[in-house]
Amino acid sequence: MTRLPARIPRAQCVDLKVPGGVLPVAPALAPIFLDLAVRFHETVEPLQWPGCWGWADRTIKGSTTISKHAGGLAIDLCAPRHPQGVPAMRTFTRPQITAIGSILARYDGLIEWGGTWDLPDTDGMHFQLRDGATLAEILAVTARLTAPAPTPPPPPAAPAPAGWTGPDLRGAGPGLRGERNANGPRVAALQRFFRDIYPAYRHELGGQLITVDGWWGDETGRWLDKFGARSGVPQADGENIGPALAAALHRAGFERRLSAARSRVLGHVTRHARR
Ligand SMILES: [Zn+2]
Repeated sequence: MTRLPARIPRAQCVDLKVPGGVLPVAPALAPIFLDLAVRFHETVEPLQWPGCWGWADRTIKGSTTISKHAGGLAIDLCAPRHPQGVPAMRTFTRPQITAIGSILARYDGLIEWGGTWDLPDTDGMHFQLRDGATLAEILAVTARLTAPAPTPPPPPAAPAPAGWTGPDLRGAGPGLRGERNANGPRVAALQRFFRDIYPAYRHELGGQLITVDGWWGDETGRWLDKFGARSGVPQADGENIGPALAAALHRAGFERRLSAARSRVLGHVTRHARR
């Protein structure tokens, strides 16, 4: 099993650009140490310069063993605040120690913190690759860290039109018309429009999002009624779509390409949200 060399020349290191400076580290560990240093800076305390180090060709302080720093396998963060030999409990707050634990949990135990070592070795500034870690383990963690965020599941498909008897909505834009009991794909589109653009209505309509089934019954009537009341069409009662409600739906972007209507839709949604 491949392991990283214990000692490499400075020239083989990758210079990690982190907030405030540069940390030279072994190339294979660059993604992990970058993640660690940036999260430390953001969730524990700002990186302190001078006071952060990576590669250094030296032995462990007080011994003849080669330090992990000589292989670019260790970094020190905010050294002046967290000197070697001083218990981490004295130089970090409890929330800071919790935050460090949360960061290290991202690396499946590959990175150990000197702050967990017993006296006199304890070393709050120091983070290093665990003894015996293999390149395969490092690559597995790196792959997970750099994977794109999971994509949300696709929205449920529209129900099959089977059973629709029509008539569906008629006309288009400000000429859109329709009445209760209409059914078909355009009623389904109207329901989807309410579900996707005005999901907050559910809080005043029993808690459930509108069903997208293509049938204009009581439920669709209530959402149309709510849309009318919030769009300056108080006469809307959910029984039909007349000129005023059609104009409001058109303004809100119903059956218009999102690219064209987007800003208007968003403005409309924002106005609704403010009420
Ligand atoms: Zn160190």
